[in-house]
Amino acid sequence: MSNDDQRQARHQRAMEKLKSHVDERVAGASEERGQLLIFTGNGKGKTTAAWGTVTRALGYGYGVGVVQFIKGEWECGERERLQEDPNLQVATMGTGFTWETQNRETDRQACEAVWQDARKMLSDPGVYLVVLDEITYMLKFGYLDIEAVRDALQHRPVEQSVIVTGRNAHRELLAMADTITEMQETRHAFNNGLKARRGLDY
Ligand code: ATP
Ligand code: MG
Repeated sequence: MSNDDQRQARHQRAMEKLKSHVDERVAGASEERGQLLIFTGNGKGKTTAAWGTVTRALGYGYGVGVVQFIKGEWECGERERLQEDPNLQVATMGTGFTWETQNRETDRQACEAVWQDARKMLSDPGVYLVVLDEITYMLKFGYLDIEAVRDALQHRPVEQSVIVTGRNAHRELLAMADTITEMQETRHAFNNGLKARRGLDY
């Protein structure tokens, strides 16, 4: 057998093994239902990944709801582009950044108002995917109760998936999640003095 033939035979054996392993795993995954995903950690990419999944769902014509806690008044390229899609609804928090407004009571009220929009989405079977962007901070600041969020998530339509983004996700949310991705910061441009960039960071 030539060297090439030997390599081909080895490759084939490895691929057969891989295929049987993958087939087994695929056969083992039989449950179909909406899922809870959490994109957390200090690295960049949480909100980007959420909008990527929004685009994916819209691509099949599914109804999608995005709730932007915190950064409601900020520019957002994905929102600009995707809001033309009648299957997308976006709810944004009325006030700006909490460390800009620095008023707990108005922030709490703004949070409560947008949470009502979120609750509507979380009870609507026509909404296939809901994104709760930066909601982790609302729990951290005490503007939202974990019980209310947990309750809404638990009672959502069976086919509905939810993506939660933000750092320091509450442990009760983590306990409920089907998928948790922790974005790890290996390096971030900001820490070397680079400004956040339109079309890249927002
Ligand atoms: P993105 O929206 O780019 O996916 P993110 O959702 O993971 O980022 P956030 O904590 O929501 O991260 O960050 C909001 C803004 O800060 C974005 O403009 C983002 O690019 C930027 N950013 C993300 N990670 C870091 C970091 N480790 N240091 C500084 N800025 C960051
Ligand atoms: Mg984000």
